[in-house]
Amino acid sequence: MVTFYRRLPRFDYVKPKSVEEALKLLDASDDGKVKVFAGGTDVIPKLKGRLIKIPELLVDLKGISELAYLENEEGAGLRIGALATISEVGSAPFVKKRFPMLSQAAKAIASTQVQNRGTIVGNICNAVPSADSAPALLCLGAEVICVSKKGERTIKMEDFFTGPNKTVVGLKEMVKEIRIPKMSESSSGVYIKLSPRSKMDLAVVGVGVMVVRKGGVFKDVKIGLGAVAPTPFRARKAERLLAGAKIDDEVIERAARVASGESKPIDDLRASAEYRRMMVEVLVRRAIHRCLSN
Ligand SMILES: Cc1cc2nc3c(=O)[nH]c(=O)nc-3n(C[C@H](O)[C@H](O)[C@H](O)COP(=O)(O)OP(=O)(O)OC[C@H]3O[C@@H](n4cnc5c(N)ncnc54)[C@H](O)[C@@H]3O)c2cc1C
Repeated sequence: MVTFYRRLPRFDYVKPKSVEEALKLLDASDDGKVKVFAGGTDVIPKLKGRLIKIPELLVDLKGISELAYLENEEGAGLRIGALATISEVGSAPFVKKRFPMLSQAAKAIASTQVQNRGTIVGNICNAVPSADSAPALLCLGAEVICVSKKGERTIKMEDFFTGPNKTVVGLKEMVKEIRIPKMSESSSGVYIKLSPRSKMDLAVVGVGVMVVRKGGVFKDVKIGLGAVAPTPFRARKAERLLAGAKIDDEVIERAARVASGESKPIDDLRASAEYRRMMVEVLVRRAIHRCLSN
């Protein structure tokens, strides 16, 4: 059992002022003894609980002002810097207007205090299967920009997670930004979180759905699921079933059942696998209907 009252273990701490300085520190270590962090809302409780390997050096990114941005240029997509907080993303008027499902996902995370301190980039780097921002970012076609001394690389959101608490980010790399492309004017997206308590609890199921329609037909549908597999993922079979289909209740029912079949949940203290599977069906159906009524 985790004890959150434990003292922090011993480690060195540094707060660099530039990305270059942070990368130099990461580059000097070969074996993950250096760990970067942003809000600390995940890392600090885990260090107190001795739930992760204790780093020799913890690098606090909060001093790097060049990473603190949230930008939406007119006619372009969204750029979320590594220090953009969950609150900033959740409450920005242009996120609410153009990327509402991301705003809904950000507002579903924990509490005001955690949202003010924690970051969206920290949420995906932490890589828990239930990370609330992940289903929305998957539906929005996000890309993650990683940097190291060797330069930058861009990773598609759907290739980012490799397992529970695992991502493709290398030991000498850090995430600089999440990029979301411009959305079609006719797209509509929602994020629905199911958790036993309304606040301060992780999702039992997280469902993001993005619908683009033309006339009475589904032109494009994206379905992102969280907390029902080792990593957040896109329900591709259900998406394929809907793409190009005439919009009616029957096809929506079928797609929701297929999405449920694509999930691979586990039993844990929050819910049984069976319940989660059932709720994927209910929530995917509900999310598609909500998109259509927007
Ligand atoms: C009480 C409580 C309730 C919570 N409820 C929820 C919830 O409802 N939903 C939810 O999704 N999460 C929840 N969380 C988890 C957490 O708050 C979020 O995951 C948050 O977004 C983490 O952001 P952070 O900036 O604090 O991450 P940090 O703790 O700073 O870092 C988290 C991880 O990401 C890595 N990291 C951070 N930034 C970078 C970077 N730029 N490059 C590379 N690696 C990086 C760190 O090394 C660490 O492994 C909760 C946490 C607490 C304490």
